[in-house]
Amino acid sequence: MTILASGNFVTSEIKQVYQDTITALRNDLGHDVVLIYEPIASGCPNCIWDSINRKSSSRYNVLNPYPSGSIYNQYFVDGSSCPVCFGHGQINQAQSGVYKAMVRWFSKEYERPGLYGGEDGLIGNVPRADVRIKISYSGHNDLARCKGAIIDGMYCNRIEQPIHRGIIDPFVSVALFRRQS
Ligand SMILES: [Zn+2]
Repeated sequence: MTILASGNFVTSEIKQVYQDTITALRNDLGHDVVLIYEPIASGCPNCIWDSINRKSSSRYNVLNPYPSGSIYNQYFVDGSSCPVCFGHGQINQAQSGVYKAMVRWFSKEYERPGLYGGEDGLIGNVPRADVRIKISYSGHNDLARCKGAIIDGMYCNRIEQPIHRGIIDPFVSVALFRRQS
């Protein structure tokens, strides 16, 4: 009898088939989840920046790249306050991204990671999660920087850093969320 050396049974082809299958399932059955990142401040596109006084110069920017009438392109008369940044010269643009995710809500208390620990490798005194999502590993950095997400229409806060899983290389990222009360 030949004893297979460790690691020779599950070939890289099998691993690939497994990963492709999981990815296809997620695309077919997954929910669209909107990850919400910290808003970032950027220059107002609607007015001309006054670099000396570090605020809006209260002059309309004729090179505004946004279409006329959009929320970032509101014509105003020179000398009046810019209606987009209200004279600050900067705006906070909320950032978000949509990912296909496998979503699991924890309906029973004992199912909830954090209460008994251990689920998905998340061990310790994490707050009890209401929901777990799994997305493609390509979104891992976005999952790590999001503060919350809209999952099935409900805003949830991320609790814990996401972890990644995979047989050979990481290919899914997993994170726990708690519904905002
Ligand atoms: Zn402005």
